[in-house]
Amino acid sequence: MTAVRERRTCALCGTGTAGHVVLSLPSTPCANGFVDKPQEQERFPLDLQLCPAPECGHLQLAAVVSPSLLFDDYVYASGTSPSFVRHFGNYAERAIDLLGLDEKSFVVDVGSNDGTLLRQFVDRGVTGVHGIEPARGIAEIAESRGVPTTVAFLDSALARDLRDRFGPANLVTANNVFAHIGDLAQAASAVRSLLGPRGVFVFEVSYLADVVEGLLFDTIYHEHVAYHAVRPLVRFFDRMGMTLFDVERVPTHGGSIRVHVANDDRAVSPRVAELVKSEEEAALFSARTYEEFGERIRTRGQKLREQIAALKHDGWRFCGYGAPAKLTTLMYSFALDADDVEFIVEDSPLKRGLFTPGTHIPVVGPEKLAEVSGQRYCALVFAWNYYDTIVAGHADWSGLWMNPLTLARLDGRAVE
Ligand SMILES: [Zn+2]
Repeated sequence: MTAVRERRTCALCGTGTAGHVVLSLPSTPCANGFVDKPQEQERFPLDLQLCPAPECGHLQLAAVVSPSLLFDDYVYASGTSPSFVRHFGNYAERAIDLLGLDEKSFVVDVGSNDGTLLRQFVDRGVTGVHGIEPARGIAEIAESRGVPTTVAFLDSALARDLRDRFGPANLVTANNVFAHIGDLAQAASAVRSLLGPRGVFVFEVSYLADVVEGLLFDTIYHEHVAYHAVRPLVRFFDRMGMTLFDVERVPTHGGSIRVHVANDDRAVSPRVAELVKSEEEAALFSARTYEEFGERIRTRGQKLREQIAALKHDGWRFCGYGAPAKLTTLMYSFALDADDVEFIVEDSPLKRGLFTPGTHIPVVGPEKLAEVSGQRYCALVFAWNYYDTIVAGHADWSGLWMNPLTLARLDGRAVE
């Protein structure tokens, strides 16, 4: 199998996209390619294409890295983060209310990770659940928590098999995976055949409008092959014979949308048209927007490097806090390496003892922070979506905190 496949058509509408690259970030290794010792790591291009079709405008990666390369050793488990558990608890309650789910219902989660979301359904009496998760190690964690899980990617054969064994699903969910799927038509068609006639598909995905507005460029990495806005999705599901009938903005990952899609025709919430209008007003489907986006990244990186140099001059040393996948894009785009960042503290034990992809900075436990307490250390919070929680959790630390994306510091002094 080749490691990289060039995209020539839009994943949502099939229009030719060759020659429509609107943003090129530096090539990087796989964002989750943490290694147990420094070694040569292959880098892959990180270019974005914008679909030129007037009713679409879908943004996607120009080169798709083979999923088996990206996901086999995936080291991320959502249950390790308390805020995700709370988020999914709320999510399950809303879905149970909306669809009137009970112990006779059947809920399938695509990309079910360690079973955190499905566990929330089970705990609320919706016991007919099934997870689909390609990473075996994480699927085993889900199984041990009483969430039946198939180790696979979703396709039509698996959808048929699940429907034969358990009946049609009342609800199919997919959170933070719809951006990861290369063949969205195949995935949507599998979801459609798994759902009953009144079934609903709910998915959450990072929202392109938030990425552009907040300059969240580090959420662009190879696992995210698609950057979703509402307008292209409305047209896509219509073409798939489904109805995108509601959408809401949620705060996950710096800004996401929770999209509701039905297998039948039904009344569409005015929220859908409102968001499409705001996307067009924000010029999300114009190449110019992404040229400016690239400019903003360069300017921000320059400012960060100036601040690092100034602090170093005053005797400060640097570490990182949090080793999320998005760290890789940020380090390469801002040209940070092991000379800048000495070590990275990570709360989750899964990545400790490993080295960051390509830049090979050691990932260590929180005890290291206590060790350097009293020295002049500045921590760059790469897990910026948890910035406040992380800072609040280490109130007694003597160092300086900085959000490498917004350049905000501990004292709240944003430098722009
Ligand atoms: Zn398109």
